[in-house]
Amino acid sequence: MDAEEIRNVINRIGFIRASKSWPKDSSDALEAAERILEKQIPVRPKIINKWGNKYCICPDCGGSVPFDSLPFNNPNYCEHCGKKLIWR
Ligand SMILES: [Zn+2]
Repeated sequence: MDAEEIRNVINRIGFIRASKSWPKDSSDALEAAERILEKQIPVRPKIINKWGNKYCICPDCGGSVPFDSLPFNNPNYCEHCGKKLIWR
């Protein structure tokens, strides 16, 4: 599923959530599904240069992300929040 398809599903869930009043546990489950799907939309980590050192942070949670000059060594997900990361 690409980012656009995920956004479409999130929009549909939002529409379903708004379309009627759900029991609290069902509403919570739909909200959790939205949050989980949001994590699958990849973001580029923020690369910060500070005092000659390069480091990365997750734009979603601000947690540090291991960073290597070889892109294939870098993680596909943030180890703190599970956000999907893209390096290219
Ligand atoms: Zn994160």
